[in-house]
Amino acid sequence: MDQNAPMDFYCMTCNARFYKPLFDVTRAIERVHFFADGRWPEVDVTHAEGIGVYCSASCRALGLPALMAAERVPIPEHPPDIGPVEICARCSGPVDMTAFHLTYSQCEIVYGETCGQASNLEYLAVVCDRCSGGRTLTASSVADNATADLPR
Ligand SMILES: [Zn+2]
Ligand SMILES: [Zn+2]
Repeated sequence: MDQNAPMDFYCMTCNARFYKPLFDVTRAIERVHFFADGRWPEVDVTHAEGIGVYCSASCRALGLPALMAAERVPIPEHPPDIGPVEICARCSGPVDMTAFHLTYSQCEIVYGETCGQASNLEYLAVVCDRCSGGRTLTASSVADNATADLPR
């Protein structure tokens, strides 16, 4: 990606064209490494994909329910933390955060001269392997088994 090109976006709620900051919703496959020596945990992120683009926090708050409904993932009342075990947004079962799992998060991204800088990252929901239909295993071919156990 050419980070020097001016980037513009269209808000998914109000259709306004804007440059920055970007209020983002991301779907990613993540896992968390915890260290015995008390170091801050590290997060491995793969297959991160922006699924929501908004011009403001309020447009994002308005758009989020429909966005997550399209993902068929309810937004939990208490957002997940980084683990080691969190609660699946769909079945309330345990999610082992140290193994790759489906994560939804939101953040604000400001594109500067040279790079984008994310801030105010918040986890929205995590989904266990059973509910994500094995997406963590076949993240590049979601369509293959996405229908396995999802209600129509
Ligand atoms: Zn907007
Ligand atoms: Zn689940």
